[in-house]
Amino acid sequence: MAEQEYITVQEALTAVLNGISVLPAEEVPLLEALGRVLAEPVVARDSLPPFANSSMDGYALRAADLADVTTENPATLRVLADIAAGSVPNVTITSGTAARIMTGAPLPPGADAVVPVEDTNESWRNVERPLPDYIQINRQVAANDYVRHIGEDIEAGQVVLQAGHVLRPQEVGTLAALGVSRVPVIRRPQVGVLATGDELIPVDAPLQPGKIRNSNGYAQIAQVMALGAVPISLGIARDTEEDVRNKLQKGLDAGVDLFISSAGVSVGAYDIVKTVLQDGGNVNFWRVRMRPGKPLAYGQYSDVPYLGLPGNPVSAMVSFERFARAAILKMAGHQQLDRPKIKVILQEEIHSDGRESYIRGVVSKQGDNYVATTTGGQGSHMMTSLVKANALLIVPEGVTYVPVDGNLTAWMIDWPESVF
Ligand code: AMP
Ligand code: MG
Repeated sequence: MAEQEYITVQEALTAVLNGISVLPAEEVPLLEALGRVLAEPVVARDSLPPFANSSMDGYALRAADLADVTTENPATLRVLADIAAGSVPNVTITSGTAARIMTGAPLPPGADAVVPVEDTNESWRNVERPLPDYIQINRQVAANDYVRHIGEDIEAGQVVLQAGHVLRPQEVGTLAALGVSRVPVIRRPQVGVLATGDELIPVDAPLQPGKIRNSNGYAQIAQVMALGAVPISLGIARDTEEDVRNKLQKGLDAGVDLFISSAGVSVGAYDIVKTVLQDGGNVNFWRVRMRPGKPLAYGQYSDVPYLGLPGNPVSAMVSFERFARAAILKMAGHQQLDRPKIKVILQEEIHSDGRESYIRGVVSKQGDNYVATTTGGQGSHMMTSLVKANALLIVPEGVTYVPVDGNLTAWMIDWPESVF
C-alpha cells in the first residue's frame, strides 16, 4: 500500500459523507416509524378536531341567554338532553334551553358555548343521578367559550409534517389522530459489524493466555442499535485476508448498507484490512490527524461503504462516534448528524499533540457556565475513560495546550441531569 498523507478530521468526514447516500423509503406500520425519518410529506385527510365539541363536562347553551347572569341572579335553563362522548346530539338548543354535555361530545346545533358543571347548581354528579329537568347557571360566558372548533388544530388538506421530519412519540400520536396507520419512512440502515484479530475470543469463553475478549464487536453493535439502525454481526475474523474476505462476504450476502470493522488498519505486520479493502474495492484514506483514532480506513468493499475503525476499544468507539454515526444517520435520512455541542470552561489543563483530539470528559453546570474536567487516564485501551464520560472535549487541530479556564467545545454524548 502506498504511503498516504494524513488528512484532517473535517476532510475525512467530508469524504465519508460524500460516499453515503440516503436509503430508499419503505412503508411501515405506525409504531415502527418511531425514531425514523419521514420520506414524504403527510397531508391531513381529516380536520382535527373532526367536529366542534366541548372541552369541559358541563352544559351546552347559548351565551346570549346568560347576558344578565350574576352569582346572586342565576339563569334557569330547561335541560333537553344528555350528550355523552361518542354520541350524536338529536336536539337543537334554542333560547332558554341547554343540554348536559361531556368533554369531547359534539356540540349540539344551536349551542355556541359551554358552561362547566362547576358553575351550575349540579356540580355533584355520578351516573346514577338522573338528568335534571332544569339547570341553574351562575356565571356568564362568551360565545365559543369551552368549545373546541373543527380544524382548530389541523385543517383537512394541510401539510402536517414535511419530509425529513424525525418521528417522535408526539408525531406518532398526531398521525394516529389523523388515521395514518402506515407511514412512508427511510429504510433502516443495515450495518455489518466485524471484529478482526487473532487475539480475540468470544465474550462467553474462558480467558486464555494472550487472548482478550471481543469487546469491540459488542460496543459497535450497541452503537449501531443506539442509532436505530440494524446491526448484522459478522463475528470475529482471524488476521488473514481469506478469513476477513469470508466474513465480509456474509455481509454482502445479507445486503448490508455499510461495513464497520475494528482493528487491523494500522501499520502492524498483520494489519491486513486495508489490503482486503484495496483488492476487493477501494481505499479512500486510512490515516486521520485525530486522537484517538489515527488509523481509520475508509473505502468501499464491493461498492458497499466501508469504515475500518482502529482496534483499541476507546479509539474504535470515538471514531464510530465521529464518523460512523454521521454516516448511519445520513443514510437513515437525518439532517442533524452531530451531537449537541456546547462551549465549556476547562477546570484542568490539557496537553495535546496537535492532532484534533477527543478527550473523554465530564461536563456539568456551574452557575451560568458549563464546566468540564477530564475523566483521567486517556489511554485508548481505557474503557473506563468512556464509562465515566458524558462528553468528548474537542481540542482543535494545531492546539497543544489548553490552560485552566480555557474554552473548548464539548461534544455531548449524554445530557445527564447534572448538566442542567
Ligand atoms: P490493531 O489495530 O489490530 O493493532 O489492534 C489495536 C489494539 O486493539 C490491540 O491491543 C488489540 O488487541 C485491540 N483490539 C483489537 N480488536 C479488539 C476487539 N474486538 N476487542 C477488544 N480489543 C481489540
Ligand atoms: Mg491486530
